[in-house]
Amino acid sequence: MKRYALFGDPVAHSMSPLMMNAAFRVMDISARYQAVRVSEASDIIRLMRSLHIEGASVTIPHKVSVIEFLDEISESAHEIGAVNTVIEKSGRLRGENTDWIGVKRALEESSAPIERMRCAVVGAGGASRAAIYAVRKNGGKAIVLNRTRERGERLARQMGCEYASLNDIASVDADCLINATPLGMWPDTGSSPVDRSMVYRFTLVMDTIYNPLMTKLLTDAEYAGVQIISGLSMFVHQGAEQLRIWTGKEPPVDLMRKKVREHLENERN
Ligand code: NAP
Repeated sequence: MKRYALFGDPVAHSMSPLMMNAAFRVMDISARYQAVRVSEASDIIRLMRSLHIEGASVTIPHKVSVIEFLDEISESAHEIGAVNTVIEKSGRLRGENTDWIGVKRALEESSAPIERMRCAVVGAGGASRAAIYAVRKNGGKAIVLNRTRERGERLARQMGCEYASLNDIASVDADCLINATPLGMWPDTGSSPVDRSMVYRFTLVMDTIYNPLMTKLLTDAEYAGVQIISGLSMFVHQGAEQLRIWTGKEPPVDLMRKKVREHLENERN
C-alpha cells in the first residue's frame, strides 16, 4: 500500500484525508492518505523518508519553510515562493505548488476568460500569491488590496502588479474580486473583507475559503446578482492536481467535490 500525507499544524479539521482517500478508492489505487501534525518543516522530510511516503500535501505554517529542505522545486513554486505539494522520486524530494492551479481552474468555471479579467485580490499571504500568479500567468491583470500597506506593496513589487489600500476599494478598477484572507472563515462567519455595498462593483466574486461553503462575502455577492465561485472549487482542484502529480492518473474531480460538499453540509445540520 502506498502512503501519502498532509503535513501542517493544525491539521485535525482538514477535509483533505476524506477527499483524497475517496479519490484513491475510485482510482483503484491501494493507498492511504493521513493527516500528520508537525511543528517543524524539517520533520516533513524526516517522516517522508523514514515512513516511505511517496507524496505529501503541505499546509500552514510550513509552505514556505519546507523549501530549504527539498532537493528541487518547480518554477511555479519558486515564483509563488511556497510549496503545497511534495513528491518523492528516486530518493529526491521535489516541491510543487498546485494552489495556483486550484485558483485557475476555479476561475475557469466562470463565464469570463481569465485573460480579460482584472482581479482585485484581497490579502498578501500565500493564497494571494497563488491567485495573483494564476491570473497573471493566464494573461489577466491583478491588483493587490491589503490591510497592511507595506506587506501589500512588497507583494505587488515582487509579483509585478499594482497595489491599492483595502480602504480604497471603491475606486479600484477591477471586474473580479478574490478574497485571499481568512475573513469569513468558520467560526468567524459574520465577517467579510469588504462592505456589502462594494460587491455591486464586480461581475465575479471568488472566495478562497471553503468552510463555510457560502461565506458572508459570497452571500452578499449572490444577493447582489454577482456571479460567485466558492473556495471549494479551488480546494478540489488543488487536490486533484496533487493526485495527477503523484499518480500520473486522472482524479475523480466531481466525486471529490461531492464528498467535501456533503461533509460540510452535514456538519452544519
Ligand atoms: P496568510 O498568509 O496568513 O495571509 C492572510 C492575509 O489576510 C494577510 O495579508 C492579512 O493582512 C489578511 N488579513 C488577515 N486578517 C485580516 C483582517 N481582519 N482584515 C483585513 N485583512 C486581514 O494566509 P494565507 O495562507 O494566504 O491564507 C488565506 C486564506 O486562504 C485562508 O483563510 C484559507 O481559507 C484560504 N486558502 C484556501 C485554499 C483552498 O484550497 N481553497 C488554499 C490555501 C488557502 P495583513 O498583511 O494586513 O496582516
